[in-house]
Amino acid sequence: MKISEIFFSIQGESSYAGLPCIFIRLAGCNLKCEYCDTAYAQDLDSGYDRSIDDILHEVKKFKCNMVEITGGEPLIQDEAVLLIKKLLAKKYKVLLETNGTISLKPIDKRVVKIMDIKTPGSGFSCSFDEKNLKHLAKGDEIKFVLVDRNDYEWVKTLIKIPCSTFKMDSERRLKCEASAATAQDYRR
Ligand code: SF4
Repeated sequence: MKISEIFFSIQGESSYAGLPCIFIRLAGCNLKCEYCDTAYAQDLDSGYDRSIDDILHEVKKFKCNMVEITGGEPLIQDEAVLLIKKLLAKKYKVLLETNGTISLKPIDKRVVKIMDIKTPGSGFSCSFDEKNLKHLAKGDEIKFVLVDRNDYEWVKTLIKIPCSTFKMDSERRLKCEASAATAQDYRR
């Protein structure tokens, strides 16, 4: 697998904020958000090769049973699913941070999925795959990064739509594209 970094720190996001956590940052991302705070991990080739066994060995050095798989976008590497399975088998609590563009169907139900739905301010608000909503369960979380008032209004509208009926139809996708363009103009 291509790994950007593995480190032990305090979880800073989600309802697990404040708890000790081991972070496995996978290299490579399929987006290029305007505000990305891990641009160094966007390129798959920026990562170094590590086998899953090697990663598990590294993780074991930390006295902590919570692991977050993050990126980049971790799911662009197929082996992420196997890494998650092996961590679960070793009784780790696993959090997965994903941008929601790749199917969550293969992800074990025991994983806490944190889906970061991109707002217009990211420049990629149309990227999220709405089919992933049905793969979220109780205990999973949705994250929005708000850049400005426009993002706030966008999210306010979005969260009123019940997950069961949400569909990014062509009309909404067009609006979403227009909204993203406005946000980009705003920043120029
Ligand atoms: S999805 Fe995350 S890692 Fe990828 S570009 Fe956006 S903020 Fe950066």
